[in-house]
Amino acid sequence: MTDTGREVHLAERPHGVPTVDNFRIVEAPVPTPSDGEVLVRNSYFSVDPYMRGRMNAGKSYVPPFEVGQVMDGGAIGEVIASESDALPVGATVLHRYGWRDYAAGPAEAFQPVDPTLAPTVSAYLGALGMPSFTAYVGLLDIAEMRAGDAVFVSAAAGAVGSIAGQIARLRGASRVIGSAGTDAKVAYLRDTLGFDAAFNYKTAPVAEQLKKAAPEGIDVYFDNVGGDHLEAAIGSLNRHGRVAACGAISVYNATEPPPGPRNLGLIVGKRLTIRGFIVGDHNDRQQDFAREVGGWLRDGSITFQETVVEGIERSPEAFLGLLRGDNIGKMVVKLHD
Ligand code: NDP
Repeated sequence: MTDTGREVHLAERPHGVPTVDNFRIVEAPVPTPSDGEVLVRNSYFSVDPYMRGRMNAGKSYVPPFEVGQVMDGGAIGEVIASESDALPVGATVLHRYGWRDYAAGPAEAFQPVDPTLAPTVSAYLGALGMPSFTAYVGLLDIAEMRAGDAVFVSAAAGAVGSIAGQIARLRGASRVIGSAGTDAKVAYLRDTLGFDAAFNYKTAPVAEQLKKAAPEGIDVYFDNVGGDHLEAAIGSLNRHGRVAACGAISVYNATEPPPGPRNLGLIVGKRLTIRGFIVGDHNDRQQDFAREVGGWLRDGSITFQETVVEGIERSPEAFLGLLRGDNIGKMVVKLHD
């Protein structure tokens, strides 16, 4: 076995849109697990939009990445050395040590998963993992989606959005509408994922396209984007409509506070609820999620796609591509088979 691996460090904090210069690939000795610890060789790690916020200094719901340190986050790999009775060599484990070839730490920091339940273990970073769980909690608990609701999802071809739209369909939405940034993604939403209507938000104003796609209005908006999408949704929401405020990717690179929706006054007359959430606060729903969404994935009612970028050296590009919209479904970095 080799005695060095590679890690991705935050080299400097970005101002506005990040570049590859904000990252550094660094060689590091493979750690030796001490008592109670395991050593894991990663096969995939996740790049996620929330990591853009962590590249900035300052307080948020999750601490910032430190300059000169490894970027942590979701990863999956195999135990290759174990000093713990809890986790044998060969176990497939999910963890949060992030952007690196090898990770060592206490066995409790690694969650064993069953690799035979997924077509590829990377699914534990997407369709069987945090993004799908976000879709489940956001749609059903935060937006309180009910059968008969017309549901609009933005960034609908991404990891969270693609699952949110399909759950809405399976839970009896009267109409599921999605927006995405390319015509190929729009076709994917309509033809593969079963959305009733979809549009490319780059080709005409969102408000105009949403009104056309949902002539009778919407009851639920699953917001991944913020900005003009949120303003358009407020305009189209019916009385007692609900918004799950999941993310606001349209403003993650903003260098000045972005303008708010201009139509917030409508919230009162329409009796709207706009509710933010962080998925990690809702772990009590994990079992329900695993049962319901796991079942739909197994019987093929929910399908998913991944965009796989190979090689740790290409991980900064994968992350920048995610922010640009290069992905369909979950964006992951593959380190080896
Ligand atoms: P995605 O897989 O959806 O990837 C991000 C997508 O955002 C891109 O593919 C791109 O697609 C779209 N996008 C980028 N810029 C813009 C823009 N200016 N306007 C509209 N769309 C844009 O990522 P995830 O599914 O992982 O995350 C989706 C959202 O959910 C993010 O906002 C993220 O921060 C949030 N999130 C929140 C969580 C929580 O606990 N609240 C947990 C997990 C995620 P396109 O080609 O369509 O533009």
